[in-house]
Amino acid sequence: MFGRGLLKGLQVTWKEFWTPKFTVQYPEEKHPVPARFHGRFVLDADKCIACNLCANACPNRVINIVTAKVGTKKYLTNYVMNIQYCLFCGLCVEACNKDAIHFSDDFGMTQYFYKNIPLVLVDRVAPEAPPEDAESKAPADATDKAAKKTAAAKAKGTEG
Ligand code: SF4
Ligand code: SF4
Repeated sequence: MFGRGLLKGLQVTWKEFWTPKFTVQYPEEKHPVPARFHGRFVLDADKCIACNLCANACPNRVINIVTAKVGTKKYLTNYVMNIQYCLFCGLCVEACNKDAIHFSDDFGMTQYFYKNIPLVLVDRVAPEAPPEDAESKAPADATDKAAKKTAAAKAKGTEG
């Protein structure tokens, strides 16, 4: 029948006109996203061992990892993602066996200048000595001090 399609279309418009509207005052409020949303990447630099598995898994070569040698180990100095080429496929997250990189629910990644688009997750200078050496030295010092204290107390006890 002539005009049937038009009537159907108007019916939909009429129905939509009366449905309650869901408005979010962005950027003050943010639209709720599902738990598995693929937003801005976050990297736990302490867990990352700079193994390059994520960079190799990326089909678009988005991830650039720079390391320095500290002692006998690799130390992550730069982790940069050229996010403009990212598909948000999650292959890098799946590839990481240290659970160091994952998605957050932050979708506000717009930048005014092109040079600011790459996502710099780590940018630091390598320490001169391995961090664990410094850590292991601290408890050793504490143990030394405690041992000296005990020895001094013992000596005092034998004198008296
Ligand atoms: S989400 Fe996909 S395209 Fe983006 S960095 Fe990870 S592997 Fe590459
Ligand atoms: S994020 Fe994971 S896969 Fe990528 S370099 Fe770090 S430890 Fe390796």
